[in-house]
Order: sequence, then C-alpha cells, then structure tokens
Amino acid sequence: MGSHLCDRLLKDGHDILCVDNFYTGSKVNISHLHSNLNFELLRHDVTFPLYVEVDQIYNLACPASPIHYQRDPVQTTKTSVHGAINLLGLAKRLKARIFQASTSEVYGDPVIHPQPECYWGKVNPIGPRSCYDEGKRCAETLFFDYHRQHNLDIKVVRLFNTYGPRMHPNDGRVVSNFIVQAIRNVDITIYGSGEQTRSFCYVDDMIEGFVRMMGTEPGFTGPVNLGNPGEFTMLELAEKVLKLVGSKSKLVYLSLPVDDPKQRKPDISLAQEKLLWLPTVDLDDGLKETVCYFRTLLAHK
Ligand code: UDP
Ligand code: UDP
Repeated sequence: MGSHLCDRLLKDGHDILCVDNFYTGSKVNISHLHSNLNFELLRHDVTFPLYVEVDQIYNLACPASPIHYQRDPVQTTKTSVHGAINLLGLAKRLKARIFQASTSEVYGDPVIHPQPECYWGKVNPIGPRSCYDEGKRCAETLFFDYHRQHNLDIKVVRLFNTYGPRMHPNDGRVVSNFIVQAIRNVDITIYGSGEQTRSFCYVDDMIEGFVRMMGTEPGFTGPVNLGNPGEFTMLELAEKVLKLVGSKSKLVYLSLPVDDPKQRKPDISLAQEKLLWLPTVDLDDGLKETVCYFRTLLAHK
C-alpha cells in the first residue's frame, strides 16, 4: 500500500521521503521510483526515533497479515505503539499533520454488523491476534491523546481488508493465497467452513480515501472507516478466483485460526459524507487486475 501511496503523492506533485524497514515490504515495489528526484528512500525502523524535516506524515508502518504479525508479536506491538509515539513526537516538533492507518481489527470479532466508527469492538486482549489489534488500538489512543493534549492535527482511518497488485505471493492473506494457489493449480486452503465473511477493497480506492482524508479541514480527526462494503464469504471468494483463473484447483478445509472474526463489513456513511468517497472498483474487476499481476510475477520466478 505504501508504494501505491508514493506513486499517487508523486503524481500529485509532492516530494516524498519513504521510510521502510523492509520487514514485509519489497524494494521491487518502489524500484521504478529511484530515478524520480522527488523520491527519497530511508531504511529505518519506526520503533526508533526519527529526526527529519517534513510537512505531512502518513503512518502505515506495521505488518498486516496475520502470519507476519504473529511471527514476532512483541515487535508488532512495538511497531504500532513505539512507532506511533516516535512519529507523533516528530509531528509535534514539526507541527505537521499526521495520518494513521488504523484497522477494522479494532472491532475484533464484531457483534454489531456492519461496523460503524462508534462501535467499540469485541477484542481479545491476550490472544494471538492481540499484538496487532491492541497495538493498533493503543496507537489510536496515542493519536487522540496527542490531539487533545498537544493540539496535534491528526487524521485516523480504519482500513478494512485491502488487496491488489504488489502484494507478496507469500503474504498469507486470503486474496493472495487463493490467487497464487489457483494459478499453480494446487489446493485452495479454506480455513474453517469458509462461511466467515470479509469485505475487500481494491488498493486504488483505498489510496484515494487516504488522500481525501488527509485533505479534510483541520479539526476533523476521524476515525473514518475505509473499505468496500461488498461482503463475501471465503467460499464465494474462492469460487470467483477459480473462475477468473480457469483453475483446476480443489478446495481443502483447514482449521480456523484462533479468534478469526466471523464477519466483517464497513459502514462507510461517514466517509461518504465527509470525504465524498465511495469505492469504485468491484471485486471481480479488482481480482482481474490482481490475477494479472500475480501471473506476471509467478512467470518470472
Ligand atoms: N521523536 C522523534 N522525532 C522527533 C521528535 C521526537 O522521533 O523529531 C520521538 C522521541 O523518541 C520522543 C518521542 O518522539 O521520545 C515522543 O516525543 P514527545 O515530544 O511527545 O515526548 P518527549 O520527547 O517529551 O518524551
Ligand atoms: N483465509 C482462508 N484461507 C487462506 C487465508 C485466509 O480461508 O488461505 C481466511 C481467514 O481465516 C479469514 C479470511 O480468510 O477468515 C481473511 O483472512 P486474512 O488473513 O486475509 O485477513 P484477516 O481479515 O483475517 O486479517
């Protein structure tokens, strides 16, 4: 998502300092930007202080796929919490507007459906997903306390599942897993019964939402849900992917991960009202683009 945001901001005429520790990001995704004089890359881990001069900050730092964020859970919490503290400290010193990519995981395994921003969520504080969920929740707390205590100009959005080109083939998330499995004609791994639901937003729509949120009037802090309200079961997703790829893969059923949310769908009325934002790419079109990207990527492996 960061590389797509860089592309968009450069296109809009901005000067970009891209900061990444490459824990899950790939340099290939920004390799086309190195010759651009308005693009600068810094290898840095946001859990350490960062002294640079900028006008605006977008914080997207944190592994987001369950298999990645659970590999080193202590580091995941540190990335969200210490990362937020350092970047908020930076924003405070610079009096810079700061954006936080929060997550629908703050709603946990929700009992309210679809999820509006006013819902406080149902989150397990001590489970395997907690490093991500509680880390992101604590980051939101820090953003709002810096806003109240130091008058910081904050913009908080909550992302629902997002997909598209430049995802890592071993990302472990459902869209990339299913597409890679379908292209390779190997078993499609359905966790649990496959009846759990998610809402999938195409990356270009998401980036548009980021930029619109960053452009809102001072004092409008969010949090604002960003996601595509189309809701699909994992079985429906598998069927779509199999058809698009023309794959011979069979479905296999594996155990459901602990605390896997049963349903998830954003209420995006606030984004519609305040950002005049609506996703424009439906799942079939977005999947087509993503399949095309993975076909090219896997052909060169
Ligand atoms: N910080 C940073 N860059 C800056 C300013 C601050 O990385 O330009 C970090 C620094 O590690 C600090 C944290 O942000 O501890 C929080 O800063 P703040 O000014 O809120 O707190 P304080 O320095 O008083 O602890
Ligand atoms: N999932 C699946 N097969 C996979 C990967 C994921 O059935 O190979 C399921 C997973 O159990 C969850 C949903 O797909 O219910 C979305 O998982 P993902 O890891 O993409 O994101 P999450 O929304 O859980 O963070």
